Amino acid sequence: MWIDVLRATLERGVAPQSWTDYLHLTVGGTLSNAGISGQTYRHGPQISNVLELDVITGYGEMLTCSKSLNDGAFGPMSYLEGAVYVNHSLAAGLKNSGGFFTDADVARIVAVAAARNATTVYVIEATLNYDNATAASVDQELSSFLDRVHGEEVALDKIGLWRVPHPWLNVLVPRSRIADFDSGVFKGILQGTDIAGPLVVYPLNKSKWDDGMSAVTPAEEVFYAVSLLFSSVANDLKRLEAQNQKILRFCDLAGIGYKEYLAHYTAHGDWVRHFGGKWQRFVEMKDKYDPKRLLSPGQDIFNLLL
Ligand SMILES: Cc1cc2nc3c(=O)[nH]c(=O)nc-3n(C[C@H](O)[C@H](O)[C@H](O)COP(=O)(O)OP(=O)(O)OC[C@H]3O[C@@H](n4cnc5c(N)ncnc54)[C@H](O)[C@@H]3O)c2cc1C
Repeated sequence: MWIDVLRATLERGVAPQSWTDYLHLTVGGTLSNAGISGQTYRHGPQISNVLELDVITGYGEMLTCSKSLNDGAFGPMSYLEGAVYVNHSLAAGLKNSGGFFTDADVARIVAVAAARNATTVYVIEATLNYDNATAASVDQELSSFLDRVHGEEVALDKIGLWRVPHPWLNVLVPRSRIADFDSGVFKGILQGTDIAGPLVVYPLNKSKWDDGMSAVTPAEEVFYAVSLLFSSVANDLKRLEAQNQKILRFCDLAGIGYKEYLAHYTAHGDWVRHFGGKWQRFVEMKDKYDPKRLLSPGQDIFNLLL
């Protein structure tokens, strides 16, 4: 798990630069997707930070892969992430934002939002890494900052709110359409609904992604990761799933040109559309290294072809 990588590297006085928000995930699992978080805008996703990987192919052979070997089959701020709180969940959302706000802050923000009749509040969280010269001003150790979601997990688990269905929706939205997404989703579909879980938004740069990889992003240089991390805490899974479909339908009808992150499709044509110009090469790589489609069958990307 990434938490083990963090501990092992810190013992040697170093650490990877690019993380996910939650570290109790496997290295193979996040590298199978991309691995994104508030550091990605600066350092690229986790997959852009891997120098070399040992992989086992569908033939059972072990290969070492890197950019030069075997097809590469695989700012001042240190962290930058935004959160959106829509009207209904404002106070609860702010209180749960990882200890970022005191009770007095929450009361003040809620009052300002009410006075302005604001339907949406946007918060920017940023961190600055420290060195010996600035160590006196440290608010939080790197390891506890990086592992902060685990603290929330423990707290939520205690009150029975962690092991619940999580119908999450993660979309990558091109910069030119983020305002349309904002008005259609944050100020539209989500207004007046019950929201449990954070709504996280952060910008990413396409140039920090390695285009030779199968991970897909929107066509523009700057795009936003929008993570709607809903928890079903009120027996409302069906409502939340329908709401996700409504959001995707809105994006489709508005021609937003988004890509789903951690996509799950059940039709072959949807996977082909998702991978777009990368589909052909992806199929070629699969045929070359795993012709019997033995590896990672879970997403049904290739099995739908059989
Ligand atoms: C609480 C939580 C928070 C999250 N936060 C983030 C986040 O901040 N940023 C982000 O990018 N994602 C995040 N994710 C999503 C995460 O990247 C995916 O859920 C990922 O699939 C997690 O991997 P896993 O360890 O659960 O592996 P699995 O879900 O078991 O595996 C995922 C895929 O990887 C394949 N795989 C796993 N290990 C290997 C291996 N060793 N070799 C080859 N293939 C392998 C599996 O076959 C499968 O296809 C989060 C998920 C959770 C549950």
